[in-house]
Amino acid sequence: MKMKEDWVEEDFRGHLKMKYKITERLYHKKTEFQTVEVVNTVGFGKMLLNDSLVMVTEKDEFVYHDMITHVPLFLHPNPKKVLIIGGGDGGTAREVLRHKNIERCVMVEIDGAVVDSCKEFIHQTSCALDDSRLELIIGDGVDYVDKCEEKFDVVLVDSTEPIGPATPLFGDKFYLDVAKVLVEDGIVVAQGESPFYNLEMQKKLTEIMSDKFKYVSPYNYSNLTYPGGAWSFIMGSKKYHPTKDLDHAKVGRSGMDFNYYNEDVHVGAFAVLNFVKKELGLNIKM
Ligand code: SAM
Repeated sequence: MKMKEDWVEEDFRGHLKMKYKITERLYHKKTEFQTVEVVNTVGFGKMLLNDSLVMVTEKDEFVYHDMITHVPLFLHPNPKKVLIIGGGDGGTAREVLRHKNIERCVMVEIDGAVVDSCKEFIHQTSCALDDSRLELIIGDGVDYVDKCEEKFDVVLVDSTEPIGPATPLFGDKFYLDVAKVLVEDGIVVAQGESPFYNLEMQKKLTEIMSDKFKYVSPYNYSNLTYPGGAWSFIMGSKKYHPTKDLDHAKVGRSGMDFNYYNEDVHVGAFAVLNFVKKELGLNIKM
């Protein structure tokens, strides 16, 4: 008897749907924040979805996690303490903790079900969550930075779309607090949406950062499973120019191997597309 085909469907911003053929539904839980699912797909390995939006897949997660992590961690000359907001799948923490000079990483994820599901089913991203340098807090990142007395060299905002609990992570008060918890040469990188689907959010984020950081710019990456493929991070840097202050030799000296990041990709990622330049204007400070 022919097995009935099964698919998961991503409904992106109410006007675009993508379907992924699956072989198995591994995890499904409705929490107070979102519906968390893990499925096994035909073409992308295991996949995490929050509220039916694709968060990570085994096939292409290396792109996002390389670029959110190694761009700021190689730009900063000597990062020791990193704060991750969100990032429940563990991929960002995994890449941070590959840097031997990192002494402490705090990860604040609002939904424990995301961590639990990835610990159980997506070891590829969650494999470093038991690292002794990591402090994992299940809580709201907005509250954490509001009350935080500790200082960090780098803050990585690895959040979902600007909806639900992630909404304040795209607001001015949050970035006032981020600037407060960063050291005087600190760097923040935020999940910066897509210039094709959410240019208005990129304009808002760069506007919010522009009066708090010396350098502000989007930087690009392209992966397989985020709609349209061309997405960005937004960097705010208190002291270091995102490309001119990169010590290229430091990447080689690290002895680390990457599948997406290298020093040329780092520099090239900051080449801002013209329609983005026109819209973001003076918010870009390079
Ligand atoms: N790479 C993915 C992307 O670009 O969409 C995001 C990875 S991770 C799964 C995003 C996480 O942010 C989710 O697990 C979500 O629960 C978490 N999150 C959303 N709002 C949050 C908040 N206010 N504090 C902490 N974590 C939050």
